[in-house]
Amino acid sequence: MHEKCGVVGIALEDRDAARPLYYSLYALQHRGQESAGIVTHDGFQQHSHVEMGLVGDAFAPGDLESLNGSNGIGHVRYPTAGSVNTCCAQPFSVSFKSGSLGLSHNGNLVNADEIGDELADLGHAFTSDGDTEVIAHDLARNLLEEDLVRAVKRTMERIHGSYSLTIMHDETVMGVRDPQGNRPLVIGELEDGYVITSESAAIDTLDGELIRDVRPGELVVLHDDGTGYDTYQLIEQENTAHCFFEHVYFARPDSTIDGNLVYEVRRELGRKLWEESGVESDVVLPVPDSGRAFASGYAEAAQDDGSDIEFAEGLMKNRYVGRTFIMPTQDERERAVRLKLNPIRSTIEGKKVTIIDDSIVRGTTSNQLVQLLKDAGAEEVNVRIGAPPIIAPCYMGIDMASRDELIAGDQPVEEICEEIGADSLSYLSIDAIAATLDSSRADLCLGCVTGEYPYDIEGEETDRDVHRPEISGQPSPADD
Ligand code: AMP
Repeated sequence: MHEKCGVVGIALEDRDAARPLYYSLYALQHRGQESAGIVTHDGFQQHSHVEMGLVGDAFAPGDLESLNGSNGIGHVRYPTAGSVNTCCAQPFSVSFKSGSLGLSHNGNLVNADEIGDELADLGHAFTSDGDTEVIAHDLARNLLEEDLVRAVKRTMERIHGSYSLTIMHDETVMGVRDPQGNRPLVIGELEDGYVITSESAAIDTLDGELIRDVRPGELVVLHDDGTGYDTYQLIEQENTAHCFFEHVYFARPDSTIDGNLVYEVRRELGRKLWEESGVESDVVLPVPDSGRAFASGYAEAAQDDGSDIEFAEGLMKNRYVGRTFIMPTQDERERAVRLKLNPIRSTIEGKKVTIIDDSIVRGTTSNQLVQLLKDAGAEEVNVRIGAPPIIAPCYMGIDMASRDELIAGDQPVEEICEEIGADSLSYLSIDAIAATLDSSRADLCLGCVTGEYPYDIEGEETDRDVHRPEISGQPSPADD
């Protein structure tokens, strides 16, 4: 189960949390389109509504009115091809001896199976094979013996992998980020309360103020009455493993993650792309939408260097076509790219063109685009990519292709260039990513571009010296 999702938790002074939770989920929609859900607590009992589909479809008129209570959590879940799986839609909620629990999880545990087996031996019954339920049961068990903070700490010491969680125990809303800070999580202040969520753009949507990132290994407990919060540094770890791909592709450009505004990061990566492998051409086109900030940085750096290169919107995106990436067959993925993108002939015909995209995974998009631009009369098509070649799967929560589907998995750049039919192809270096994020390589998770992961993954190289001791248990490979 690989869960690349969006989470939120809110505690308000004295109005229902359902509506602000709903708006936050809208702001986080890009992080998950398979299902959406909200769980609230009114001081006496939990209320839950979890449904498949986009946020706008998952809640019918009236659903929010039944979600009483000024405190609650929410979740949007990332689709994994073929899994239309109501069992795994979140927030996960359960009642047990010492109260009720709700959980929203973004990330992927590497030892969930092991913990699940141990708990099953103790008589715990599971309704899904997801990580989140394992965390809920482990926490429920710890809460029988410990206070809230110690119980969370015990669970954190047990679970390994990436997780940003919002949790609700009875009325109390909390947020936890894994000790390596792999997935983002931020705290914000609202006019009449506090919010913990995956991305700061959700706080903006609520007219709130970003306070700061939740620190790796930190627990944030919102006061039940919405008037403040307490923090506990539960686990300290030397190195972080922030996911660089959040900045490159996944997060919204208007979000600030670990102190960096994603839009500015992407523009700077675009500038570095020009510095590292700029190619003279008539026009530079972004692959919408994710290539846009890269392309504007690239064009700006080129113009600063005296180039006459022009920035243009030469590819139009049909915004009503969903995500092509997760279509089950290659044939469908190819058709979907064509449905999604159409060239504007006048900006392309007879011109030397450079297109900029954030990443190449299977190569479907670049392959189709190069052909499309050539058919539209481009004299030359150069491809520049704002990330290094993706050579290995992600085990930390991003839905990438499996290793044998990755176009860069086993062939050098020259062969990829030939395969996609481009006149030239260059990727950005890992050093450029680290420098832009003002981080050392050791503090980033670069698993998908180096094959070295912050945790031991059976059958994969790891970066154990930099990160942590061997952890047993094996994740489901993040393929589709
Ligand atoms: P591909 O066509 O398989 O090479 O995928 C690359 C395209 O999909 C790029 O345009 C990216 O913006 C986008 N992309 C990259 N990673 C992901 C992901 N994990 N999920 C969905 N789309 C992605």
